[in-house]
Amino acid sequence: MKDVKKLKISVIGGGASSLLLAALLKPTKFEISIFEKNSALGRKFLVAGDGGFNLTHSEEIKEFVNRYHPSKFIAPSIKKFSNEDLRNYLKSIGIETYVGSSKRVFPLKEIKPIQVLNAFENELKKK
Ligand SMILES: Cc1cc2nc3c(=O)[nH]c(=O)nc-3n(C[C@H](O)[C@H](O)[C@H](O)COP(=O)(O)OP(=O)(O)OC[C@H]3O[C@@H](n4cnc5c(N)ncnc54)[C@H](O)[C@@H]3O)c2cc1C
Repeated sequence: MKDVKKLKISVIGGGASSLLLAALLKPTKFEISIFEKNSALGRKFLVAGDGGFNLTHSEEIKEFVNRYHPSKFIAPSIKKFSNEDLRNYLKSIGIETYVGSSKRVFPLKEIKPIQVLNAFENELKKK
């Protein structure tokens, strides 16, 4: 079989955004290294605010992109991977979610933040 040269990607910081990015990139195409200055990944996953551990918001994309400034910059990326896509991805790695009364999206009540972090780490290890 012909060797395919993989593109090397260095991700600086191992927070939520980096873990999701690394988990979504195809290991057949990319060789990914995550550089985290602390001794463990995703520590902020483990601190939820007063309202609980919200993962995204369920509103329509048209309104959703306007939460970001400048929205024109972020809109194409969010349209490619939307709040709904995130929920589907989380489901595929075993994290079921629900929409709260605030329309924010949470992991099911029995799922703790550490389990969400572990699910990401397991995906990365598999890859
Ligand atoms: C109390 C509290 C509650 C929160 N609750 C929620 C919530 O419920 N839902 C939510 O979506 N958000 C919540 N947040 C916000 C949350 O922190 C962010 O959504 C999330 O962590 C952002 O992820 P990130 O990957 O962009 O950044 P971070 O999580 O900040 O990750 C950045 C990573 O990069 C590392 N780093 C930085 N500089 C370097 C460097 N030079 N070299 C190597 N590594 C480096 C850091 O150590 C860190 O691990 C909360 C924040 C706080 C403080």
